[in-house]
Amino acid sequence: MDSRSKTEITVQGIAASQGIAYGQIFVYLQSEVEVPSYQVEPEKRIDEVGRFDRALIVTRQQISKIKNEVEKNIGPEEAAIFDAHLLVLEDEALIGETIREFESSGRNIETCFQKISARYVQAFAEIDDEYIRERAGDLRDVAQRVLHNLLGQAENSLNRLADRRIVVASDITPSESATLDRSAALALVMDTGSKTSHAVIMARSMKLPAVVGMRDITQRVTNGDWAIVDGYDGVVILNPSESTLFRYGKILEKKKTFEARLLEVSHQSAVTLDGVPVSLMANIEKSDEVATAKAFCAEGVGLYRTEFLFLNSARIPSEQEQLLVYKSVVEAMAPLPVVIRTLDLGGDKPMAGKKDLFPKETNPFMGFRAIRWCLEHSEIFKDQLRAILMASHYGNVRLMYPMISSAEELARANAVLAECQAELRARRVPFDETMQVGTMIEIPSAAQTADLLAKQCAFFSIGTNDLIQYMLAIDRVNDRIAHLYEPTHPAILRTLRFVVAEAHRQKLPVSVCGEMAGDPVFAPLLLGLGVNCLSMSPAWLPSVKYLVRAMTMADARALATEALSLTSPKEIYARCDAFYRARVKMD
Ligand code: PEP
Ligand code: MG
Repeated sequence: MDSRSKTEITVQGIAASQGIAYGQIFVYLQSEVEVPSYQVEPEKRIDEVGRFDRALIVTRQQISKIKNEVEKNIGPEEAAIFDAHLLVLEDEALIGETIREFESSGRNIETCFQKISARYVQAFAEIDDEYIRERAGDLRDVAQRVLHNLLGQAENSLNRLADRRIVVASDITPSESATLDRSAALALVMDTGSKTSHAVIMARSMKLPAVVGMRDITQRVTNGDWAIVDGYDGVVILNPSESTLFRYGKILEKKKTFEARLLEVSHQSAVTLDGVPVSLMANIEKSDEVATAKAFCAEGVGLYRTEFLFLNSARIPSEQEQLLVYKSVVEAMAPLPVVIRTLDLGGDKPMAGKKDLFPKETNPFMGFRAIRWCLEHSEIFKDQLRAILMASHYGNVRLMYPMISSAEELARANAVLAECQAELRARRVPFDETMQVGTMIEIPSAAQTADLLAKQCAFFSIGTNDLIQYMLAIDRVNDRIAHLYEPTHPAILRTLRFVVAEAHRQKLPVSVCGEMAGDPVFAPLLLGLGVNCLSMSPAWLPSVKYLVRAMTMADARALATEALSLTSPKEIYARCDAFYRARVKMD
C-alpha cells in the first residue's frame, strides 16, 4: 500500500535542530541479522557455493564504494578503516573453513558463515593484542554485510543512503554520526537523545532538521513511509495529508524568505545598535567545515573538536598526520584565530573499535574522559600537543583543554605542554612561543575555582552543554529527563555571572561554546552577563548576528539583571523568548 494513503499521525519529540523536511523514511537499525537455518539438497550444493562467491564479490564492491565516498566526503583517515574490511574478505581461513563446514554439515551457507565468523570474532576478541582485537570489530562488521547480501536484505548503513531520506534511528553514536551521508540525509529522527547529544550537534552543523527523544518511533515506521520532520516544534508527522502538506508548504516559504534576510546580514559586522562589537566564532568538528565557517564570516574558530579526527580512525593518528590536518585549518582561517581543543575522547565519544583504550563504564560522563584520559595516556597527549604547537607556526592558534576540574589538573596539563615545547625547541622545530592557552569551564568545580584557574591560563570558554548536565545532574543525552535540562536555571545564571566576573577581574576574555551560544533566544542573556564571544555551529551564525544587530547591549544587560532576580527557569526562558521575538519578526 502506498504509505501516503495511510492515516496521518503526529508524534511529539524534542526540537533538536531547526528546519523542516518532507520525504521518505530510512530506518537505521543496528540489530544483528537473523539467519534462517536449513538443509541444502545435495544437487543444489554447487549453486550454494556460487551464491557465497557472489555475496563476497558484491560485499567487496559495496565496501570499495563506501571507502571512496568516505575518502571524498570525510577524509583519508576515516576511509582507512575500510581497507581492513576489504582484507577480511580475502581471508583464506575464514572462507575456506566456511566451505568445509558447508560440505560436512550440508546446512545453508549463511548458517555456516555465521558460525565460522562468530568463532573467529570470539577468538580475536580474546587475544591480548590491541591490533588483533580491533580486527574482531572489522570482522563482525563485514560478516554482517555478507549475511545481508546472502539474505538479499537491503543494506542498513548511514553512509550510503540509496536516495534522499529522513534517517530514523534508535540512537546514533558520535562515530556513526560522523559517517552520515551529508548529501542524502534530509533530516534526523531518533528514539533517544537530547539537544546536546553529539549526533544532534552534528545534525545542526549540517543544517539538518532533527527531532529526538521520540521513544519508539523506530517501531512505528517502516522504510519508505512518508513524513514531515518539523525541527522547530519538535514534531514528526507520519503520512501527512494534503492539507498538512499545504500548511507546511506555507511555513517553509516564510522560513525561506526569512533565511534570505538572515543571509543578507552575514557579511555585515556583528555590532549592537548601541555600537558594541560582539565576537561570533564557529565550532567545527571536521577540517572541511572551515569553508562554511568562512562563508558565514565567522571571526575565527572558537572550538575545534579534534576528537572527531580520531573517532572513526582505524588507529591513533600520528603527530605528523595530525599536524597536516590542523595546519590546513589554521592556514585556511589565518589571520583569524583557531581555538584547538585537545582530545575530548571517552564519555559519549569513545573511539570506535578501541575497547581496551575506552573500557565500558557505569557513568561514562563522569568517568575516564577528556583531560583525565589524556593525562594517563601521555604519549598520545604529547603527540597531539606537539602537532598543535607545530601548527601554531602557520597562523593564529590558541590551545584549550576540555573537562578541567581543578587548578592542579590544569597545572599538570600545562606541565606536559611545557615538556612538548622544550622538546620542539631542542628539535629546532618552530612554533608560536606566544600561543595562548585556555581552559574550558564545564565542570562545576572549575566554575567555582575560576579565580584560581584564571591565574594559569589566558582565556576561558564555557561549555554549557556539560556544565548544565553536571550542575543540574541531568544526563545530557537522556531523553526521559530532557525537559529538566534547563539552561535558564538560576544556578546556571549565577555560575555564569561568577565565572565572567572572576575572569574579567584578571583580564581574561570569556566565550561560550556550548549549544546555548548558537541559540538566538539565549545569546542576549549570555552577552548581557558579560560574555565576550559566542562560538557556535557555523550554520547558526546568521541568526545570531541578525539578532545582535537588532538589539542594544544596554537592553541585554537589563535582561540579564532581570533574569538574575527571577526564580523560575520557565519564567526566565519566557523573558528571553520575548526579548528575541520583540526584535526578530519573521513576517
Ligand atoms: C560543552 O560541553 O558545552 C562543549 C562545547 O563541549 P562538548 O559538547 O564537545 O562536550
Ligand atoms: Mg563538553
